[in-house]
This record gives sequence, structure tokens and C-alpha cells, in this order.
Amino acid sequence: MTSSAVLQPALSLVLEALKEIRDSREKPLRVPRGALNRLLESRPNHNIPDIVAKAAALGHVRDRVCVCTKCPHLARTRTQTVFGVGNPDAELMFVGEAPGADEDARGEPFVGRAGQLLTRIIEAMGLSRDEVYIANILKCRPDMPKGVPGNRPPTPEEMRTCIGYLIEQIEIIQPRVVVALGATAVEGLLGARGVMRELRGKWHSYHDTPLMITYHPSYLLRNQSPGEKRKVWEDMMAVMEKIDRPISERQRNYFL
Ligand code: URA
Repeated sequence: MTSSAVLQPALSLVLEALKEIRDSREKPLRVPRGALNRLLESRPNHNIPDIVAKAAALGHVRDRVCVCTKCPHLARTRTQTVFGVGNPDAELMFVGEAPGADEDARGEPFVGRAGQLLTRIIEAMGLSRDEVYIANILKCRPDMPKGVPGNRPPTPEEMRTCIGYLIEQIEIIQPRVVVALGATAVEGLLGARGVMRELRGKWHSYHDTPLMITYHPSYLLRNQSPGEKRKVWEDMMAVMEKIDRPISERQRNYFL
């Protein structure tokens, strides 16, 4: 085979990928050098075209979400939709309930106080927000009466209407593990409300993907008891084991 016969298809692939990235509204990937090296060393079969194809597929879903008016009351009141953020080929995906005021303003999930705690949890796991994927059951902020501060949980009807987008995200990303943050995420994913105290800390399954249920970071902000924080950390250590991440002695003794 001549070198141009090899280079031509490769060049076309790169050009196609660049075109997809240009045309999609997905944020460009930011991969820390260390993370990229680890990826290349530990996963020799990691397929770059896979990431490109997944980013493009997510971009198509995002385009539909951006203009979605299935819940007219939410489409009217949102600043923007909040699709998801992170690595389109992530091994680990976190699912929360819905954007709040901060996320609605920024267009990115988990950027308020609860989001900052989630980021700390992810970093304590030895990961970064760029390496995992973060999304919500709802892509719009649940509306509040004019002038009323705060956020409200989504209604069952809003969840039923929006869940299809999250299902598509999970199907494209194919994470090794999904973490459901709080009872609303569990209800959206499994279609049933349960008692968090009984559900958390155990492996469940979402369409054959291992599902870990844990407390929502905003619950930890409200309930500062070290015992509850430790439970979340133990859930995260179980997740790290499942995705074959090493756990150092320091991490074993860590308290959030
Ligand atoms: N809480 C959530 O469940 N999702 C967010 O994006 C922010 C706060």
C-alpha cells in the first residue's frame, strides 16, 4: 500500500471529525496532559475515532435539546438548556436532577454550591470533571413563581417528558458505571421512588450498566454530619473499584 493510500483515508477522517466538532455545539474537549497519558498507557485499545463519533452523536442530541419546547412552561422561563458536560467517552457518568439558577445562567450542570462539592468529590477520586460526564434528568431549570428565589424538583410529568434525552446520552457514552445523585435521579432512571437510606451504597442496574445510588451533594450541604459524608465517599470508593481505579491509603481514610 502506498503512503498516500494510507494517509488519504486518515486525512479524510480527521477532516470529517473537525467538521463535526465545528458544526456541533459540544464544548471542545479539554483533556489534562496527565489524564491523556494515563488513558493512552492504560487503554491501548482506546479508540480516538470512538470519542469523535460519540462527540458528534452527542452534538446532534444537544442540537435538538437546545430548541426543545416539549415543556412549554420551562422553555418559556429558561435562560438556556443545560445539556451535559465532560468526556463523551467517559467510563463514569453522574446523573443529577435538574439545573438550578446557577446552571441555568451558565448552561453547565453542577456549577453552583452543590456542583462545587460534586467537583471536590470527583477530584478526591483522582478524576477531573473533564474525564467523567455529568448530566441531569431534566435539561431545563424547573420554573419558579416570579420573584420566588431557590429551585424546585421536577414533577414526574416533566421527568417523563425529558428522560429520553438522558437515555440517548447514556446510550451514546456507554459509561461503565452510572452514579445517580439523589432520589429524583433514581426516580428518573428507574421509574420508582425509594428511600435513599435503603437504596444508596448498593449496586443496582440501569439497562445492564452498573448503577450506584448515592446522596445528592445538596443533601450533604444541608446535612453536614461526617457520617453521611463518609457514606457518600464509601459509595465513591465502590465506584472506583468497579472502574478499576487504584485507591490509595490516603483515599481510604479520606472524609469529604
Ligand atoms: N443539582 C442538580 O441536580 N443538578 C445540577 O445541575 C445542579 C444542582
